[in-house]
Amino acid sequence: MKPVAQAPSPQDAAARKAVKPVICYPTDTLPLPDMAMITAARHPLEMSEKIIVPPRDARTFTVPAGHFFRIVSVEGPQVGDLNLWARQDLSEKFYSGKTRALHGTHLGVGDRLWSGFPCLRPMATISYDTLDWYGFDDYGGGVHDVIGTRCDPYTGRLLGGADYHHCCHSNLTRALAAETGLPLLAAEMHIHDVLNVFMCTGFTKDTHQYFMKASPVRPGDFLEFFAEIDLLGALSTCPGGDCSTEHSSDTAACYPLEIQIFAPEPETLAGWSSPQPSSYSRKHGL
Ligand SMILES: [Zn+2]
Repeated sequence: MKPVAQAPSPQDAAARKAVKPVICYPTDTLPLPDMAMITAARHPLEMSEKIIVPPRDARTFTVPAGHFFRIVSVEGPQVGDLNLWARQDLSEKFYSGKTRALHGTHLGVGDRLWSGFPCLRPMATISYDTLDWYGFDDYGGGVHDVIGTRCDPYTGRLLGGADYHHCCHSNLTRALAAETGLPLLAAEMHIHDVLNVFMCTGFTKDTHQYFMKASPVRPGDFLEFFAEIDLLGALSTCPGGDCSTEHSSDTAACYPLEIQIFAPEPETLAGWSSPQPSSYSRKHGL
């Protein structure tokens, strides 16, 4: 939020503010996913694994490149916080900021989850979303944002709250430590900003502050991804439940989420291969 202006407006203030915006990253040259192939590969899908994430906790999962995974609402409205890594290299992880810069504040079908530098390649492509009917509401809210971060005990403490150990950051940390055998504090360093699955968020129109409101998700809804590379994922069931009130306590009603992994018929992906890491020389001007 900006304070009340102290600096006087220049004479041409109106003209300066009237300058039209341009899109930072025009996507007309962005490599597009082959949605026709991905859509065809969805039929039929055979479920190979199912993982339940208990309320206020997190679980890891692996997905081979070319397989699909779904995050499914099963018992009640519940938001999930998703982290992704390259299966064999925790240093290649989901980059929510660049994903936002490329695709906008909220993700939908055809959008991709990009990894950070130096790879900057698609880790997964969203292939189906039962909540795509929601669009944007009158408050400017939408689902599946990459504008939030993840609830965590540090910000809770900063804002004067009691330490709460089942925030998404801590849930993801425990799950990654259990998966990898890393010490807890080493695992924590790999936790990163998330895709807020099912969460309904936006920025207020007056102060442009980050807001949340009750998720429209209902049991049976799912968000589906096509794994572009071999993935390790971690999903936290946010202690905010549907995130209609608060998210750093045991107050909200919370429900499990289900992760489903699907193998397509191999011939449906004939000719497809995983995207390669960025070919930038990394000389950085030297
Ligand atoms: Zn959370």
